[in-house]
Amino acid sequence: MAAMGGGGSAGGGEKKTVVVVGGGVAGSLLARHLQDHANVVLMDSKEYFELPWASLRSMVEPLFAERSLINHSEYLPNARVVVSTAIDITESEVLTEKGDLITYDYLVIATGHVDIGALARNDKLCFYQAELRSSVSMKQLEGGPTGVELAGEIAVDFPDKKVTLVHRGSRLLEFIGPKAGKKAMDWLISKKVEVILGQFINNELDGVYETSSGETIKTDCYYDCTGKPMGSSLMVDANLRVKGHKNIFGIGDITDIPEIKQGYLAQRHAMVAAKNLKLLMTGGEESGMATYRAAWPLAFVSLGRNDAVAQILFITMIGYIPGMIKSRDLFVGKTRKQLGLTSDLPLGLEGDR
Ligand SMILES: Cc1cc2nc3c(=O)[nH]c(=O)nc-3n(C[C@H](O)[C@H](O)[C@H](O)COP(=O)(O)OP(=O)(O)OC[C@H]3O[C@@H](n4cnc5c(N)ncnc54)[C@H](O)[C@@H]3O)c2cc1C
Repeated sequence: MAAMGGGGSAGGGEKKTVVVVGGGVAGSLLARHLQDHANVVLMDSKEYFELPWASLRSMVEPLFAERSLINHSEYLPNARVVVSTAIDITESEVLTEKGDLITYDYLVIATGHVDIGALARNDKLCFYQAELRSSVSMKQLEGGPTGVELAGEIAVDFPDKKVTLVHRGSRLLEFIGPKAGKKAMDWLISKKVEVILGQFINNELDGVYETSSGETIKTDCYYDCTGKPMGSSLMVDANLRVKGHKNIFGIGDITDIPEIKQGYLAQRHAMVAAKNLKLLMTGGEESGMATYRAAWPLAFVSLGRNDAVAQILFITMIGYIPGMIKSRDLFVGKTRKQLGLTSDLPLGLEGDR
């Protein structure tokens, strides 16, 4: 087992070492904001950042991934990137699955959802190309918001394909209100997507899938969209420190904050934690730390390239206006800018990396 310093140590006016575990929506932004204030080590199980929901557009338009897959090193020129999975944490060290120990002064846990896709950006780009080439005529999907968004992408870009969405729950989009679920369902049906509720896939034999109630669906392509697993929930205090720990913060979907799990909130957590870390690292008083208050529900679910269904507080709307906000670019340009990059790829780099 190798011991690796984070690149500096506590004391003597030297920069502190902040290890960020998880380079998703929250961890990437926090690392970006701290890279000039500390010795930042970003540890992620893959070498790149990807907006989770942008991957659904990349399935139907592989070139979209050129902008939405960003190597961590690209937006973190002044930090160290460790591509490995954290398997254990002590009061001062993180153990990676490769057997390295990384010491920290401060730790930020931002492990949201476990990503079991490709480790390298190029492999992920190739995966999307291969997906498109396997242009079969019938596609079947199983799962919640991911299933709805992917069904929308396929229905709009490939209207000739027969798409079936099987969902275990009694309605779609259970994480927001029933009106939003009904509007999304009506939209999908209007695009000739077959929606089967209250069932899940039990068995598969030679491309014939059997649902829990014995219905059979013949398909040549199946996507499991039932959601990536999440580690256990982390209890955090109002300053976003993990309860019982002075030097460990928790941000993003992994936290037990009683609010809807959304990326824009994960980013707000990142900004609060970054502010508090800067304060603590410069010897500020704990009492001066910023606090985070759980947010009201606000969610956008895209329905193809132009439409979306949105829930803003208790108001639900569907169509072109929420579509303009999310579905056109899926917040990719905005997120790239937040990471200090250009909204579009620099000329000459499109399709070239
Ligand atoms: C279909 C869909 C649509 C969505 N649409 C929106 C939307 O429009 N707007 C919005 O704000 N939110 C949206 N969300 C929610 C948003 O994706 C999440 O809230 C957000 O990704 C949470 O960010 P995070 O940083 O906590 O976790 P993640 O983004 O899941 O990142 C976690 C990172 O940690 C890494 N990791 C996990 N375990 C380890 C480990 N042990 N060691 C090292 N690395 C590890 C993973 O590889 C990953 O890179 C959507 C989600 C889905 C599924």
